Amino acid sequence: MNKQQKQDPKFTKFHGIDRDKIDWRPVIDESKCIGCGMCATTCGRGVYKFDYENRKSKVANPTNCMVACQTCANLCPMKAITFAENDSTREKAQKIIKEYNILSKIKVELESKKDELNFNSNE
Ligand code: SF4
Ligand code: SF4
Repeated sequence: MNKQQKQDPKFTKFHGIDRDKIDWRPVIDESKCIGCGMCATTCGRGVYKFDYENRKSKVANPTNCMVACQTCANLCPMKAITFAENDSTREKAQKIIKEYNILSKIKVELESKKDELNFNSNE
């Protein structure tokens, strides 16, 4: 992490895994970026900052990025944002799930959140 980076404490874990260990972050192709600001103003996790002098978005806090979210990439009008070099983004997300055995962690988590998530509760 460089000096500018600031990991929000809310986002330090992904289903119990240290977020720093998981390779999921947006990469901007600056030659395609037109500096529209869509990504910087839309991401709800503070991943981007905007370079107002050079009119380019910058990835400032990559580990705040929600694993497998691709909202900014889908909204970018120039297809300038990518997440996976060789795999498709879906393949990459599924590899992360397998590598960290996340489905078994979710099984436990789901039960622990029953009060919060129960669709059939009366409240
Ligand atoms: S949405 Fe795309 S074109 Fe717009 S600032 Fe972000 S990377 Fe650049
Ligand atoms: S993928 Fe989602 S969380 Fe990550 S930078 Fe883009 S909008 Fe933000």
